[in-house]
Amino acid sequence: MNIADVFKRKSPVLSFEIFPPKKAAALYGIDETLAELCRLNPDFISVTFGAFGSQVDNKTIELGRKIKNDFHIEPLIHLTCLNYNKEEILVILKKLKEEKLFNILALRGDESPDVTPKEEFKYASDLITFIKEQSDFSVCGACYPEKHLESPDAVTDILYLKQKTDAGASHLISQLFFDNQLFYDFYEKTRIAGINVPIQAGIMPVTNKKQIERMVSLCGATLPLKFKRIINRYEDKPEALFDAGMAYAINQIVELIAAGVDGIHIYTMNKPIIAKRICEGIKTLI
Ligand code: FAD
Repeated sequence: MNIADVFKRKSPVLSFEIFPPKKAAALYGIDETLAELCRLNPDFISVTFGAFGSQVDNKTIELGRKIKNDFHIEPLIHLTCLNYNKEEILVILKKLKEEKLFNILALRGDESPDVTPKEEFKYASDLITFIKEQSDFSVCGACYPEKHLESPDAVTDILYLKQKTDAGASHLISQLFFDNQLFYDFYEKTRIAGINVPIQAGIMPVTNKKQIERMVSLCGATLPLKFKRIINRYEDKPEALFDAGMAYAINQIVELIAAGVDGIHIYTMNKPIIAKRICEGIKTLI
């Protein structure tokens, strides 16, 4: 199935994101997680890809294969390019083809002080162009409602984002955000810039304080006052923080759907309970 086609027949599209467990042995334990996520019948499940080394990419493909063949849900395979050359990317694309995994989220990935980038791909748009030259994969890209951390300003970031859709990205998935108005403003700017593909809103429900601090330091998401109040009030009461975090995420999603968003992408953090609670909260809206 071509994921781009789902957006033509359905709105909003619902997807989940998972990551391959770090330890190879834990891959066996992921079956129950996948089974629970797939029972919720998302339109697709995306699987993250390590920016460095081959261990993780094999696990990404393995998980994608399981999702497709064992659970009959379409996987979206993340693929980063900064630390790979063209030959290595071709090997990965060949593997994906053999497994009939034809949907790719093409990413640049982040630099690491320990790894020298291979420099054949500088940006995600280079990878998108390369994949599109090779074969008929369906490719999507990432976008940043509050701009990418390295970008000097939002306009520059959106102009570069346009290069991704010009290169063939047929939909975009957003970085997490907690203030819907920032997403609406971003969406409007993409339309002014001539970006006309569907954009899914990335939602990460907060389940603990450390997690939110880590995410905010990684991506710089703005925390609205009403959100900070929740964290401050319940930081030492994990169950209450979980309930409040879920309520906040569901509220965010309900408002996005009412505003006509193209799709919702839930960062599940491999916890089916998160996806379950959200799906219960929005079951008649999707
Ligand atoms: P790009 O689109 O290449 O942009 C990176 C920066 O370069 C931006 O500041 C952009 O404005 C700028 N830029 C783009 N083109 C040009 C140009 N031509 N000239 C000058 N500047 C330019 N990381 C992982 O390692 N694995 C994952 O599985 C993963 N999944 C993700 C999923 C989503 C939905 C999102 C939002 C992010 C994900 N990431 C993942 C993180 C991502 O790799 C980082 O955010 C990374 O820093 C940027 O990746 P990108 O593909 O958006 O890069």
